[in-house]
Amino acid sequence: MKIELKNVCKTFGKKSHAVNDLSMTIEDGEFVALLGPSGCGKSTTLLMIAGIYKPTSGGIYFDDRLVNDVEPKDRNIGMVFQSYALYPHMTVLENIAFPLKQQKVPKEERIERSKKAAEMVQLGDLLDRKPSQLSGGQQQRVALARAIVKKPKLLLLDEPLSNLDARLKIEMREEISRIQKELGITTIMVTHDQEEAMTIADRVAVMKDGRLIQYSTPMELYNRPKNYFVAQFVGTPPMNFLSGKLVEMDGKHFIQINDKVHPLNGLAVKSNGKMQDVLVGIRPHDLKLGTDGDITIEGVVNLVEPVGHSLMVNVKVGTDQIRFFAEPAQQMERGGKIELSAPIPSIHLFDPNTGESLR
Ligand code: ATP
Repeated sequence: MKIELKNVCKTFGKKSHAVNDLSMTIEDGEFVALLGPSGCGKSTTLLMIAGIYKPTSGGIYFDDRLVNDVEPKDRNIGMVFQSYALYPHMTVLENIAFPLKQQKVPKEERIERSKKAAEMVQLGDLLDRKPSQLSGGQQQRVALARAIVKKPKLLLLDEPLSNLDARLKIEMREEISRIQKELGITTIMVTHDQEEAMTIADRVAVMKDGRLIQYSTPMELYNRPKNYFVAQFVGTPPMNFLSGKLVEMDGKHFIQINDKVHPLNGLAVKSNGKMQDVLVGIRPHDLKLGTDGDITIEGVVNLVEPVGHSLMVNVKVGTDQIRFFAEPAQQMERGGKIELSAPIPSIHLFDPNTGESLR
């Protein structure tokens, strides 16, 4: 099912917009993550798609049909919330079968379909257990099976993994991804965890203050963030930022970082033609030790942390601090001077006033 939001707004009482002029399309079978910091309007958006909240203005369309006035139960959706909300007195099988019972599906069919859904989430052996006898991850699987047993056209997930520990989170992430692909079901997931959104979704909608900031594939969000907000929000560890100056001379662009001037050959830059302050963004993975790159940066080692097979090094550059990854064999001492370099195509430039990308 294709979902379309057209100029959707939501206000609560006299407060400012919780969701502000949101327009986006989720294609049939697509997995979309709504990503943003707390209070940016993600859950409100999801609840409007579910029909639990009504938009203050604008339209929500399912396969080109306006559904603003359609009741949640008539929208053909399955939902999984952060709190799994299982019925404690019912077994796993009864919990999964509950939506079918409500639909008055005959008992035999109910059991057969619930068992199939349980198999899908790998709970086939635990059908007689009560929720209290299950781990957090298993409870989450029951909630997922219960959401898909009705064969909905749309799956809505509201922070479904936030109560799980780090290892289970990855396991369930893979599980949800597999099931979504197997069923080919249009899925919208709310999360504030950028890594989760970037690994699981086909497209990510980054929201801030009720507005849609950028809606792209994870790759594009990572490589071509539209502004400073997206750049600093997406990526682990986060992008480094250095203050610099952008200069245009004879139609060519140069970047100055800490007294060093580098030509930005081959990089399309939107400059105002004068010397202007910029924020230079470089991802930690794009920085290498040594001067064997287009842009070189001098700094002083501030902190060295072993992170598995490499070292994460925090470096002071003027008044800024940046991070990069070094090999364990590369001896590094606190207070030592080092030189780092990065290739020109990996450089991001932002207007420090508007935050807009200058690339
Ligand atoms: P979180 O990750 O913390 O859940 P969110 O991005 O999902 O945040 P929303 O829950 O959609 O954000 O909230 C957006 C804004 O709307 C917030 O300012 C919130 O306080 C407000 N809001 C949400 N629900 C209601 C409500 N029922 N009544 C009044 N204000 C609300």
